[in-house]
Amino acid sequence: MKLRRFRAEGFRNIGTCDITFADGANLLIGGNAEGKTNAVEGIYLFSRGRSFRTSDDKELVGFGREGFRISVEYEDRDGVSTLEYALFGRQRQRKKNGYKLSSVAEMIGSFRSVLFYPDDLRLVKGEPEERRSFLNVAAAQYDPVYLSEYKSFKTALENRNALLKSASRGEPVDEGELIAWGEVMAKHSARIYLARSEYVERLSHYAAEHMKSLSGGRDALEIRHKSDIEGKLTDPVEAEAEYRRIYTAGLERERIVGTSLWGPQRDDLVIELSGKAARSFSSQGQQRSIVLSLKLGEGEVIRERFGEYPVFLFDDVLSELDPERRSYLLHSIGGMQTIITSCEDIGIAEGANLINVEGGSYVPAHR
Ligand code: ATP
Ligand code: MG
Repeated sequence: MKLRRFRAEGFRNIGTCDITFADGANLLIGGNAEGKTNAVEGIYLFSRGRSFRTSDDKELVGFGREGFRISVEYEDRDGVSTLEYALFGRQRQRKKNGYKLSSVAEMIGSFRSVLFYPDDLRLVKGEPEERRSFLNVAAAQYDPVYLSEYKSFKTALENRNALLKSASRGEPVDEGELIAWGEVMAKHSARIYLARSEYVERLSHYAAEHMKSLSGGRDALEIRHKSDIEGKLTDPVEAEAEYRRIYTAGLERERIVGTSLWGPQRDDLVIELSGKAARSFSSQGQQRSIVLSLKLGEGEVIRERFGEYPVFLFDDVLSELDPERRSYLLHSIGGMQTIITSCEDIGIAEGANLINVEGGSYVPAHR
């Protein structure tokens, strides 16, 4: 997968831009607040379906502008394609190769990229929510139906929770409806469970390899998908039956508490280093290595599944890594396309496609 071009109009502080990318390393270089992350945000939006900085895409509209339009032109084994996303007023439009797409889910899974930015360091120490979000974004790029399953699950969960809340207040509740939503939840929960488990199993192998190399063989990284299902199920019918059992068994307690206490909305990713919880026992350096291993692993899983590496986007992380990890990273991504942002020349400019960023303008540096 190669990103050829990113174009934007009225997006964040970008008036208009048309950036061309080279095959290997592309370095966006410029001072603070000039627009480096804004470009990365626009590019990654096509992989994630929405911005990684805000859930409200109206914030992406440039100050004083009526809307924005962004597009990527990328090349994979099927040839060159374009994706476009525009927001004007309340009108959103997504297109692939000029044809309208009806949903975000249809846009995801075409242009595959992996983002690594400073907040990702919270993956190890942060709340389970952060790890679930990592899993959702990764699984959505891996499995084309994941996102629609997840959306259907969320709808069922919200409906079930609304009924449970009423029940907890002593209000009359339609029992049949409550049970029916539990069944809808069980169906989607099973698929989410299987997709997440499969993804984590693949990722765990690659991430462990990277961690081993990064730590000179000292740290054994193990990651596991944690869910309400005990043991390991691989059959969708069994998984659904198990969720149905869990949701039925817990109903009395949930009626009192007023919310769903079990399900994929509480899943986590267990991260252990040599058998100990990384969340409690890993050092700062180990946390950086773990996150780096997960990100590089994410790329390997995509390569295994689709036959080509994704585009790697590194926003502001290279300067945060010590020389040893930085050189490991640069070595690992040697043959792939990367888009790296930095405030200063961090010693990787040699051979890279340099782009100077200033006030929302992106100018190729001629050497
Ligand atoms: P840093 O090195 O500090 O990370 P950066 O080059 O990555 O800087 P960006 O995050 O890309 O900076 O932001 C560039 C500028 O865009 C900021 O000054 C910010 O205030 C501005 N900005 C953010 N949202 C909008 C918007 N909707 N319209 C116009 N400008 C915006
Ligand atoms: Mg930035």
